Amino acid sequence: MSNWIWENEAPKDEGRLKRAAKVKVDSLSINENECKGVFIGSEGTIYQTDLETCSCPDFAIKQGYIPCKHILRLAMEAGIINANGNTPQQQRLADIAALRQQIASAYGFYYHFDSPIMPDKKYDELKARLADLEAK
Ligand SMILES: [Zn+2]
Repeated sequence: MSNWIWENEAPKDEGRLKRAAKVKVDSLSINENECKGVFIGSEGTIYQTDLETCSCPDFAIKQGYIPCKHILRLAMEAGIINANGNTPQQQRLADIAALRQQIASAYGFYYHFDSPIMPDKKYDELKARLADLEAK
């Protein structure tokens, strides 16, 4: 499997991810031996894509350093990344960080102002979700 940007911690290109979700798909071949797609460009041009390379001009301009929208879409369809461009592991870490921040801010608010910003039940739910994610 190629070592694309989705393996890195680099910030995701939201614009490209949105374009990837909208790109027209002609055909996909995704199985354990093959991960290929055929996409139709705005002018009707056909692009051949796999996880390593794409025949579109955008990919050629970037000289293969950044996956184009077709490669991203293929990776989405194959379940390698989600709509946010995260692998399952990256999404898990992002969810853990977000939950920790919510819990810390709720705790901090209660500690400093002696007044909860969320009901105890909700706070307990956040802590349970965090424990669940951290256990995975
Ligand atoms: Zn492309």
